[in-house]
Amino acid sequence: MSVPGGLRHTVPNGARIVIVGGGYTGAITAILLTRMSTTPLDITIVEPRAEVGRGVAYDSRDPAHRLNVPSGLMVLYLDDIEHFTRYVDARDLPASDPEAIAPDGALYPRRSLFGDYMVGEVRAHMAKNPSASQLRHVQDRAAAIAGDAAGYRVSLMGGGEVAADFVVLCTSHGQPALPPGFDADLARHDGLVLDPWAEAKLSNIGTRDRILVVGAGLTGADVVTSLRHHGHRGGVTMISRHGLPSNRQHDFGDINILLERVRRPVPDLIARHGEFNSVAQVVRAVRQDVSAAKRKADNADWREAFDHVRDAAGAIWRGLPTVEKLRYSRHLSSYYGSHRNRVAPQVVDKLDEMRRAGQLSVLAGQIESARADGAAIAVAFHERHGGKSHLQTFDAVIICTGPIHRPDATGNAFLQDVVHKGFARSDAYGLGMDVDNVGRAIGANDLPSKGLYVVGPLTRGYFGDVIGVPQITAQLHTILPALLGELAGTEAHN
Ligand SMILES: Cc1cc2nc3c(=O)[nH]c(=O)nc-3n(C[C@H](O)[C@H](O)[C@H](O)COP(=O)(O)OP(=O)(O)OC[C@H]3O[C@@H](n4cnc5c(N)ncnc54)[C@H](O)[C@@H]3O)c2cc1C
Repeated sequence: MSVPGGLRHTVPNGARIVIVGGGYTGAITAILLTRMSTTPLDITIVEPRAEVGRGVAYDSRDPAHRLNVPSGLMVLYLDDIEHFTRYVDARDLPASDPEAIAPDGALYPRRSLFGDYMVGEVRAHMAKNPSASQLRHVQDRAAAIAGDAAGYRVSLMGGGEVAADFVVLCTSHGQPALPPGFDADLARHDGLVLDPWAEAKLSNIGTRDRILVVGAGLTGADVVTSLRHHGHRGGVTMISRHGLPSNRQHDFGDINILLERVRRPVPDLIARHGEFNSVAQVVRAVRQDVSAAKRKADNADWREAFDHVRDAAGAIWRGLPTVEKLRYSRHLSSYYGSHRNRVAPQVVDKLDEMRRAGQLSVLAGQIESARADGAAIAVAFHERHGGKSHLQTFDAVIICTGPIHRPDATGNAFLQDVVHKGFARSDAYGLGMDVDNVGRAIGANDLPSKGLYVVGPLTRGYFGDVIGVPQITAQLHTILPALLGELAGTEAHN
């Protein structure tokens, strides 16, 4: 097991770190802590799922759910970037899962395979790790937090509490909420699927049912391919504000170049075009880059130019005035999402096939109301282009508008308590938690809370696009050295 050079820290023996949330972010945080510390830590991951490392994305056992990037991009260890590739190679994927190979030859394994890999990595580090740290999983849900000079106490839904010197919040994706216009009673209707990951509820849908999928992004693509995989033959309508389905993913080429780019202090886009004061300037810069690439090569791919916006998202966001951030949220976030959140080519091909066969239609529009109509759901909506209004009845409506990130709106009692007690606060844009440049939660007193860190998608209001595995891994190489540095300056409270 190798250790990143120059990154190891000596902290008080047995310092207690509690990680709340054991999806990808919580798992990789724990693993890298054991690899970066020189002294043994006492790490507890609080996670209600039976296994640590899967979270929302990799807990799916549905064979139709694939990684949305080629397997080579799923990097856990910056000092061993081919670790997952070797795991995949050892499983002879072309034989066991022929559909994993995209037409361009890149591999897009099932998401469950990455989940298996993560669970294996966590177990391996529980058994043995470079700092001889204790790593344990408490299968429960964190309910509340208390803190004083002696450290934090995280109390659990099932009773009891875990004491900590430092706490790391990795709870990320909340449940989606009922979209505007939906009758509140619908939350209890048999035909409404509020949680698109609830496989039991999806499996109750009849193969001939008329389905409305609200949201046309990654989650919507997952749900529609899954319905098709399980033999659904009825009509499916997808609706979103702009009617922009996720784009086809492309192969990234050299992963070293991508990871180096993600970690550059001044992102390429800003080095080329200077700082941005408005979203219009960003759009202009991307258009220029796409045109310049096209002048160089006929088959130049817009995705490559767009990926530079993704890499610069945090720096651009921090530099924009509030009025521009609000303008982005109102007008451009859907375009960013559909260009940034791309899906495996195999998935796009299946969706295209369904559209050609007339089984799937994708609409740009706004839902005005949705209410129960006996066993069905009646939905009134108007189309974005032309403004035509419709009233249509569906047997099932599946909400795929994405998870809520606002801590005070997720229904996550623990996050609400952390905010209520003033240890942390929501960011100003409803994207997640307010943090400083090393991931420390900013408290109600405007100051970073000692020993309270936030990692992953909850920090995108400051760090920008930290949604994907490579971005989260790269972010930890900023946050964990700072965390261990702060811990090194404290005494363990055993
Ligand atoms: C469907 C989907 C597919 C994706 N596919 C890819 C991909 O192919 N490639 C890629 O690079 N990225 C992908 N991503 C993005 C990325 O991998 C995810 O953002 C990443 O999984 C984030 O993991 P996480 O641990 O931060 O969050 P989550 O997966 O949301 O995990 C958070 C965990 O916290 C737990 N939790 C919540 N509240 C509490 C509490 N109070 N107490 C204790 N535990 C709690 C939850 O049970 C959950 O397991 C995908 C994301 C999604 C949603």
